[in-house]
Amino acid sequence: MQAPLRGIHFESGKGVEIHIENGTISKLVDIPSEGLSHRIAPGLVDLQVNGYKGIDFNSGDITKEEVAKVVQCLWEVGVTTFYPTLITNSDDTISRAIETIVAACEEDKLVNDSIGGIHLEGPFLSAEEGPRGAHPLEHIKNPDWELFKAWQECAKGRIKLMTLAPEREGAYDFIKKCTASGVLVSLGHTAATPEQIKNAVVAGARMSTHLGNAAHLNLPRHPNYIWEQLASDDLWISLIADGFHLPESVLKVFMKVKPGKSVLVSDCTQFAGLPPGTYTSHIGGAIELGKEGRLFMKKSPSLLAGSAQSLVHCVDHLVNSDLVPLSVAWRMASIKPMEVMNIEGYGISENGKVDLVVFERRSNKIQIVQTIKSGKVVYPSSS
Ligand SMILES: [Zn+2]
Repeated sequence: MQAPLRGIHFESGKGVEIHIENGTISKLVDIPSEGLSHRIAPGLVDLQVNGYKGIDFNSGDITKEEVAKVVQCLWEVGVTTFYPTLITNSDDTISRAIETIVAACEEDKLVNDSIGGIHLEGPFLSAEEGPRGAHPLEHIKNPDWELFKAWQECAKGRIKLMTLAPEREGAYDFIKKCTASGVLVSLGHTAATPEQIKNAVVAGARMSTHLGNAAHLNLPRHPNYIWEQLASDDLWISLIADGFHLPESVLKVFMKVKPGKSVLVSDCTQFAGLPPGTYTSHIGGAIELGKEGRLFMKKSPSLLAGSAQSLVHCVDHLVNSDLVPLSVAWRMASIKPMEVMNIEGYGISENGKVDLVVFERRSNKIQIVQTIKSGKVVYPSSS
C-alpha cells in the first residue's frame, strides 16, 4: 500500500497519518482531525471462535476452503486475527479438524497470518452438569500429555491456547508441561475448589475462559470458583460481552476487579453472521436465532445455545451499556488478547504490524469501512 492512511486514532482522538512500507508501519504523523470522519484502530483479535456464517470448526467434516471462508468473513467484521476453537470431541475428530486448519494455513499466507493459533477447549473439562456446558460427556476425560503432544504435532505447533478444568487428575503436571512448551493454559468449564485453582495458577495457568459462564446455576455464596478466579491476581479473564451471556452488573464488577487483565471474546458459533431464524445444531437439536441476536434452544427458550455475535458487537455492547468508553472496549478486543498471548508490540506503533481497521460509529453501531491484514486491504475485497 502506497498512500498513507488518515483517520482519527481510536485512543487519542487525534488525527493521525499512518505511513506504510514493506508491510510495517514506517511512520506516524500527527495531523489535524478536522474533516476526518473515520477512526483507525488495531485489528480485532478473537481468542474464541467456534465457527461463523454456517461453518462449524467442530462439525467433523470441515474443509480447508471453509476455514479460509471464515477468515474472509471475519475480516468483514474487523477481526484480523482469531483462534479457531475446537471443543470436546472424539480424538479423531479433533485431529482431523486440526489437520484441516493446518492445511488451510499452509495454502494461503493471509489465512496463516490471520489464524493466531488453535484454541483447544476440552476435552479435559469438568463432567458436572453446568460447568460442562454443551461439551459432550462421552468425550470428557483427564488430561493426557501424550495425546496432547500428538495433537500438537499434527498442528505443527499451532495449538497456542488450552482451556481445561484443573480439578481433573493429572492437571497440575499437564499445566506445567503446557506452560513450558509455550501454550497458554486457561481455566474453564470447571468446578474446581479454591485450593485447586491456586495450585493451577502455581503450575502456570494464566487465564479464565469466559468467566461467569459454564458454571452451576446455584453456587455456595463463598467460597466458590468464581470469587477465587476473580481474586487471583495472576489470572486474566475472558468475557462473552454479547449482551446475553452476562448481565451488565457482572461485566461491570468483573472488569473493575481485573483492570488491564480483561479480554473480550465472541465465543461465536456457526450461527453468527446468519439471519434470524430456526436452525439445527449437531449438538443441541433445534435452535432459534432471535431478531435481537440471542441464540437459544427452541424447546427451552431460557437456555442459551451459544453466541451468535461477532467481537465487534461485543465492543458495541460495552459502549452502549455505558460500561467503558469505546477506546477501552476496543483495546480489550485487540491489544489485550495479544498481550495475554504474549505477543508484544501489537497496536498502532512505528515498526508495528499493519493489522488495522478503519471504522465509523453510527446509531450506536460500529460500521467497518476497511480492514487491512499484514499490510493488504482485505475488506472490502478488490476481487
Ligand atoms: Zn466454553
